[in-house]
Amino acid sequence: MDFLDLDRLLSEEERLIRDTTRSFVADKVLPEIAGWFERGHFPRELAKELGDLGLLGMHLEGYGCAGTNAVSYGLACLELEAGDSGFRSFVSVQGSLAMFPIWRFGSEEQKRRWLPPMAAGEVVGCFGLTEPDFGSNPAGMRTSARRDGGDWVLDGTKMWITNGGIADLAVVWARAEDGVRGFLVPTDTPGFSARDIDRKLSLRASVTSELVLDGCRLPGDAVLPDVQGMRGPLSCLNEARYGIVWGAMGAARACFASALEYATTRVQFDRPIGGFQLTQQKLADMLVELSKGTLLALHLGRMKDDGRLTAEQVSLGKLNNVREALAIARAARTILGANGVTLEYPVIRHANNLESVLTYEGTSEVHSLVLGQALTGLSAFQ
Ligand SMILES: Cc1cc2nc3c(=O)[nH]c(=O)nc-3n(C[C@H](O)[C@H](O)[C@H](O)COP(=O)(O)OP(=O)(O)OC[C@H]3O[C@@H](n4cnc5c(N)ncnc54)[C@H](O)[C@@H]3O)c2cc1C
Repeated sequence: MDFLDLDRLLSEEERLIRDTTRSFVADKVLPEIAGWFERGHFPRELAKELGDLGLLGMHLEGYGCAGTNAVSYGLACLELEAGDSGFRSFVSVQGSLAMFPIWRFGSEEQKRRWLPPMAAGEVVGCFGLTEPDFGSNPAGMRTSARRDGGDWVLDGTKMWITNGGIADLAVVWARAEDGVRGFLVPTDTPGFSARDIDRKLSLRASVTSELVLDGCRLPGDAVLPDVQGMRGPLSCLNEARYGIVWGAMGAARACFASALEYATTRVQFDRPIGGFQLTQQKLADMLVELSKGTLLALHLGRMKDDGRLTAEQVSLGKLNNVREALAIARAARTILGANGVTLEYPVIRHANNLESVLTYEGTSEVHSLVLGQALTGLSAFQ
């Protein structure tokens, strides 16, 4: 699978983290994932194991977090998503969307209270930004936060929230008098409720929920003190998108491996289908895009570790790698013929999952517009 010998570009520690994550996926995820996907189930009990492996909030320093570099975090995302995008989503949401804002914008007390149990997988977090009427344009959000004496009172609805129904803590972004603010909402707070979104045909091994805040009263210190405005949620999304740049290549690698294996064993017209030129063309194209995408992820990871990575560069990575992963998944599906539409093979599951990955954390269209704006200086969003 490592055609360009990218392994040599990794440090010993990075390889160790990658291999440990790969073993976890092989032992705990792959044997069960088809059934979980079919039943629409995420095994919450594995959160503690992910915590024990140091994978939750792994790129954050202190407070029980592993403090790895960005490349190691990316490699873990790749291996998890080679298992299923639902697992990478869980780790992305926990580490980059729920823990990161506390770590970056929280008070010392908030960090001490929440980060260690979240890193251990004992407390599960979610990130509530999207609303039913505000997806690509979250700045239009209607969820409100008003002061009432020393308290805050939140009202509104958040939609499509990963981990919502299994979360102990929701990081909710709401409009206050002084702009958008982030709130730490324990999910047993009166006025908070979550309803899981069923009948989803993508990311089935991941919980996606609607959050309702109905006069949800929080103490004055529930607000993240160090950020105001959309910079707060957007900086979290940038962290998570970086993980997707890597993760998408994990899903692509799994599809490629499945197609390659199938092509060399499935016989039609008295020869393995991998011997037909049209199949070889597909495999060669898949290999080229998988190799380029993985190299791109590694390059962006090294830039992030140097403190040089911009949001626009992350957009380029997310746009390319998810788009190409989806193309690889679809090409792999054709190689598997009818078997390609069953859960006996991982391909249709990854292809379906990648449809969500294409949409969340900024749609492919939105990332194209980010690049268009960077190139021309002209915003085409409105
Ligand atoms: C499985 C799943 C999990 C998710 N998890 C979370 C989560 O944990 N937390 C969270 O806050 N959100 C989450 N989301 C929400 C996700 O971020 C949004 O779905 C996404 O931002 C797109 O919003 P939307 O679905 O409302 O689509 P819309 O914004 O309505 O977009 C619909 C279409 O219009 C296009 N479009 C919109 N504006 C423009 C424009 N200016 N120019 C060109 N085209 C445009 C879009 O690209 C898209 O093709 C999740 C979504 C899914 C599917």
